[in-house]
Amino acid sequence: GLPRILNIIRTPFDEQATLIITQDITAAEQLNATRTAFVANVSHELRTPLTVINGFLETLTDMPELPQEQRQSFIELMSKEGARMRNLLADLLTLSRLESQTDISSRRQPVCLTALAEQVVHEAMLLSAEKHSFISELASDIWVNGIQQDLYNAFSNLLFNAVRYTPPQGTISIRLWSQNVAPDAKQAIFQVSDTGGGIAAEHIPHLTERFYRVDSGRSRQSGGTGLGLAIAKHALAEHGGKLEIESVVGSGSTFSAVLPQMEISKGLDSSDTPA
Ligand code: ADP
Repeated sequence: GLPRILNIIRTPFDEQATLIITQDITAAEQLNATRTAFVANVSHELRTPLTVINGFLETLTDMPELPQEQRQSFIELMSKEGARMRNLLADLLTLSRLESQTDISSRRQPVCLTALAEQVVHEAMLLSAEKHSFISELASDIWVNGIQQDLYNAFSNLLFNAVRYTPPQGTISIRLWSQNVAPDAKQAIFQVSDTGGGIAAEHIPHLTERFYRVDSGRSRQSGGTGLGLAIAKHALAEHGGKLEIESVVGSGSTFSAVLPQMEISKGLDSSDTPA
């Protein structure tokens, strides 16, 4: 474990001398610290919209003379904050479900990634509201044995992020293909590239941590919960897959979901057990 500094004591006898007491953090302690930080984060994330809602409610109650137009705009802001809380709770439930289910083998079903990708691209275009150009190259008939809802969560978070973090006029490219990784093993890759601002290298390893954001104002402004990439990572991992992130500041980012694929010719159940 890492040594943790418990206390730094200046000795009263010698101004220059400092006694540092350290302790190893055990795995259990680290887990506990992670949990405490998580609860603190969730509390903070929920408190912020609640404070806004309560503030406007108070104003509406105390000032019946406010013009109708202003009352309406307060109501809209409150409903936006309510939606934020609802999204956060939905993402928290998804994440906790993903973290508690480890073995999905008995619940896997054939999922057509081509159809899933088409659906997610369609939804991303609605979200973009014609602010971006979309290029999509989806190979037909790509299947994995998995859980439809979780794969949807992974794909949609990657693509919706591209829409949310790419300025208007930008281009979002979506590719889906399959490649051989061994004579009898294939993998499917769902890749989203954007022409957004990109992400500095030091942030990349942390992006899948819960509530990690490069720019929290921007994330919240665009409706982000801070949990999207954590959800994507877990959803891919339960399929034996992984998330790969490449980014260049100033030119854009590429997120790739890599999934081991079943060999259809060998039957749906037996051949895609991840290593
Ligand atoms: P959020 O709800 O904040 O988007 P995510 O877990 O989905 O949470 O993403 C974590 C952070 O990663 C975001 O806050 C943002 O800083 C960064 N990020 C994710 N996708 C992109 C992207 N396509 N371009 C630039 N930054 C991104």
